[in-house]
Amino acid sequence: MKRIFLSLAFAVALCSCARNPQPEIIPMPSKVRMGSGHYELASAYTVACQDSSLLALEDFINMNLASAGQADMLVGTDADITFAIDPSCQDGGYVLSVTRKGISVKAASYPAAVAAVATLGQSVDGNSVPYMKIQDSPRFEWRGFMLDVSRHFFTKEEVKKIIAKMAQYKFNKFHWHLTDDQGWRVEIKAYPELTLRGGFRDPLTHNHDIDLAGRVEKNNDLTSVLPADRLIQKDGKTLYGGYYTQDDIREVVAFAASLGIDVIPEVDMPGHSLKIIESFPHLCCKGTASWGKDFSVPLCPGNDQTLEFAKTVYSEIFELFPYDYVHLGADEVEKSHWIACPKCQARKAEYSLADESDLQDWFVKELENFFLENGKTMIGWDEIAAKSSLSGSAVVEWWRSWSPATKKNAAENGNKIILCPNEYYYMDVDQNRNSLMKVYRYEPIDEILKPFEDQVLGSHGNLWTEWVASFEAAGHRYFPRMFAISELNWSDPSSRDEAGFLSRVITHLRKLDAEGWNYRMPDLDGIYDQNVFIDSAVVSVTKAFDEIVVRYTVDGTVPTIDSQVYTEPIVIDSDCTFKFRQFTSTGIGGETAVAVFKSVDYAEPVQVDGLEPGLLVRWFNGTYTMCDEIPQEGWDEEYVSPVMGYPVQPKNDIGLVVEGYLEIPQDGIWSFYAYTDDGAIMSVAGQEVVLNDGLHSRSEKTGQAALRKGFHPISMKYFDQGGGILEAGFILEDGTRVPFKPEQLWHKK
Ligand SMILES: [Zn+2]
Repeated sequence: MKRIFLSLAFAVALCSCARNPQPEIIPMPSKVRMGSGHYELASAYTVACQDSSLLALEDFINMNLASAGQADMLVGTDADITFAIDPSCQDGGYVLSVTRKGISVKAASYPAAVAAVATLGQSVDGNSVPYMKIQDSPRFEWRGFMLDVSRHFFTKEEVKKIIAKMAQYKFNKFHWHLTDDQGWRVEIKAYPELTLRGGFRDPLTHNHDIDLAGRVEKNNDLTSVLPADRLIQKDGKTLYGGYYTQDDIREVVAFAASLGIDVIPEVDMPGHSLKIIESFPHLCCKGTASWGKDFSVPLCPGNDQTLEFAKTVYSEIFELFPYDYVHLGADEVEKSHWIACPKCQARKAEYSLADESDLQDWFVKELENFFLENGKTMIGWDEIAAKSSLSGSAVVEWWRSWSPATKKNAAENGNKIILCPNEYYYMDVDQNRNSLMKVYRYEPIDEILKPFEDQVLGSHGNLWTEWVASFEAAGHRYFPRMFAISELNWSDPSSRDEAGFLSRVITHLRKLDAEGWNYRMPDLDGIYDQNVFIDSAVVSVTKAFDEIVVRYTVDGTVPTIDSQVYTEPIVIDSDCTFKFRQFTSTGIGGETAVAVFKSVDYAEPVQVDGLEPGLLVRWFNGTYTMCDEIPQEGWDEEYVSPVMGYPVQPKNDIGLVVEGYLEIPQDGIWSFYAYTDDGAIMSVAGQEVVLNDGLHSRSEKTGQAALRKGFHPISMKYFDQGGGILEAGFILEDGTRVPFKPEQLWHKK
């Protein structure tokens, strides 16, 4: 009897000691040990720091602990939450302990204390923080985000909101792309024309603004409306734009510093300089602002006045930004005008430069030396590493995914490198069901960089804004991909866990929604691009979480905020095309999903003798833009493949025609996907089930077919112009994508 009593007591004790679940933190911390029980912050909770250097944390603490109330931060050691600098913490890292005695943060530095506050903010629930100990430090010292404010202007208040969000996800470098062909946004006292004239444009004649107006009209995309506070009246015209005064810049830099974030300015030269040339036409070779074959006409490096102008501008930039690094840009330079320019040719002769690429390098080096004389380190886009003549002091920002050679050049030359391959880190790229995990699965340190890992500073998400007109549009591009980049930069790669990450993403999207941010809503489940049914269908869509509102139309129009709300499954018995669109809880509309529903009969299987394993593949060397351009005859190679996949060998543009039979195990409506780059059309039983045609980046299309048990003809037309992705298979009821298995694929000799 006594023994039983003891066991029960032991069991009760065990229950009450169950460890707290781990908070859903992004980025995943290095080490988390959960306790049992919680520390409750009273409404008048107190915060203290060891010395006054940490007092600037106060606003960020209040922002992150808003659910627990607001507190004044004092110097001292006796408080609910205490902060101290502890040099024994790992570089950039911190230790956060929550015990019965209170919450203690020990951090290696001020920015590390900011990171600890971000973790604490993601751990608090109401006023309650779980007992735990987190020891955390970053993978990379450079965790950056770039915002292009030239193509579209963002106010300083918006920029500050973005910077604060960066801090919550442990980014520490804000790369501010301040100038480009489409707008000059930083006041330069020596040249007021740059902003007074170059900060504004006529949106009715500007190609990006015209495109965006079309999206507003066609897609009801209200995030593409130019914000009214960026429109001015001048000389009887409505102009669009804006700029930052030097005081604005100082305000943003100070704000970022309070969040442990360095601001890295980019003033792009010698290319991307139309806004300079419009006000100072004598600084380009032919004296007029225009476009060349590939890019805008650049500055003239043969002209001494160009150097003088550049150095004057940069002198003011150096004063405004108190950090080591300044970005020269130096990307995408159109050199054709330099060839015919006497000044450029004289410069080449003066320095025995072999060609115009050398002339570009000369310009970059001139400025690099000027940077160094002023105590600054130059960053440039990877075009500066095209040749081995690059100086070792410059930092190379590798962006051209398709040009690993420049990354290698820079590494072998000893340069420090920041990674932002456009394929993964460009936030302006359109999103789809697969885009988040594509970023999450990327490993920044590849085989090329492994021997040079010490030279990699970190990585960098970039938002170019040609087609991003508003703060809401920026939110849609940032989230959720910013979460993936946050983890790539901070967390140990061994901690990657796709299911766990996706679950945390949902928690964080819900927080963003509650804060009124826009974000890309996860794709709806339960519908395909092409759906089929026998007799009748139940149209049932599933959203990722409750706050999202789904609206739909069946009359072909794009759903708006006034369209019918989807609340329950809809039964149909005739052909119908639904347009579904998700809205955030604050009413911002996302993309529209079109789902075609067709009434069909079962396709009967075919009887074929002598089937052999695998699919028959015909390969065409050629460049195609649509699947029907792939010829019927005259293939370059023919082979049998056990899978529906991209061939291993090709390096050039190809077309493929794949044919065979798919074995279907039982009668049913089967769902299919094809995830491709570029175009693909897949047919089953003579019907086109997946239409993913045309040139595009990696994307998925889906469809269905009603098939009886047995063998059905299957075909895939596919072409590629770089990218090289071909995957296809079944979609299971729970939404899982399963590539066709070799034992399901057959062909006839
Ligand atoms: Zn010239």
